Amino acid sequence: MRAFNAVGGTPRFFRSGAGAWLTDADGNEYVDLVLSWGPLLLGHAHPEVQAAVQAAVARGTSFGAPTEPEVELAEEITARTPVERVRFVSSGTEATMSAIRLARGFTGRDVVVKFAGCYHGHVDALLASAGSGLATFAVPGTPGVPASSTELTIVLPYHDRAAVTAAFAEHGDRIACLVTEAAPGNMGVIEPEPGFNRFLAETCAAHGALFVSDEVMTGFRAARQGQWGRDGALEGWAPDLMTFGKVMGGGFPAAAFGGRADVMALLAPEGPVYQAGTLSGNPVATTAGLTTLRLATDEVYEHVGAAAQTVKDAASQALDAAGVPHVVSSAGTMFSIFLLDPAELATGAVRDFADASRTDARAYAALFHSMLDQGVYLPPSAYEAWFLSAAHDDRAVQAVVDALPAAARAAARV
Ligand code: PMP
Repeated sequence: MRAFNAVGGTPRFFRSGAGAWLTDADGNEYVDLVLSWGPLLLGHAHPEVQAAVQAAVARGTSFGAPTEPEVELAEEITARTPVERVRFVSSGTEATMSAIRLARGFTGRDVVVKFAGCYHGHVDALLASAGSGLATFAVPGTPGVPASSTELTIVLPYHDRAAVTAAFAEHGDRIACLVTEAAPGNMGVIEPEPGFNRFLAETCAAHGALFVSDEVMTGFRAARQGQWGRDGALEGWAPDLMTFGKVMGGGFPAAAFGGRADVMALLAPEGPVYQAGTLSGNPVATTAGLTTLRLATDEVYEHVGAAAQTVKDAASQALDAAGVPHVVSSAGTMFSIFLLDPAELATGAVRDFADASRTDARAYAALFHSMLDQGVYLPPSAYEAWFLSAAHDDRAVQAVVDALPAAARAAARV
């Protein structure tokens, strides 16, 4: 994606970032709506995060041993989410990979269920495409992944309760876990329908499988308590395991998984399920994450939500004026804009990967390049979320709003 393979053209090389703004190697400035693919909730080079990180670096960069910031970050995570215990890793990929190993170790079962269009990092077992027919085992989604890595993975259409029920009816006693993005953000943003995540949690529980909610993107981003704060907390249920990354690393390589204490107790060294990492819980990364989360107050989420609303409204207006059919799709403060005709969707909303795939990627590329030429850095793919930050002030948001009409007209010409 960073190579612009989805939109064409030459990727920008960036020299620096400050607040909402990026400066490329040629000295051009851009309002950044990518924010390193989500982590920078406070914007680039936040002074307090910078100061805390510099102080941490001065104390030494890695000890491979417990440190205070890692414990405090774990406490910050357990305070905002239903997880009882936390294990740190260095990437979202590792977090989901380890959560699945733990679910398999806990249940003594091997099969994993996921949804088409949900991305959980480049874990072999999850780089899977649906096989033929529902509730059948998957085939590798990329060369390099052996069929043996995906033959225990079932891929289902998102939001398809009947497919979930059928898969569990047929294979329930072999299913270790169902893993889903808490709100999909990797096929564009999709809001889970009310009760859908609860249905998944209940279905898993009924079959003795674990419900793994991947909040690598949504965690501490969609809302203060992540997507769980928008459904589980209100409805009174909790996932068995959750994965986190992006915002909780404050722009450094840090991620985590956590959940039920009885499940986490199976992890080595307390239990038999092996998991380890040289740089896990790294003091610089956990200091960045801890400082970021402590600064991420309710006001920050209100600000990010309001800025997102202004951009969404302006984009919709500009696209309407240019005659470009589209759907704005949000989950909390995250959103994306699908360039497709809502009349072609069963409910008018984008519900699954088949719906998302209708987006006009060529029109998006035209929109993207027009915005880029006008100094706005959008995600270089039609299937990514647009992100705002606490640093997106009126000047930055206005620059985006001002660029949208010409970009919408460029999309209309495709
Ligand atoms: N899960 C989700 C929901 C993600 O969005 C991502 C990254 N986009 C990952 C896992 C993988 O994280 P990482 O890139 O840090 O390995």
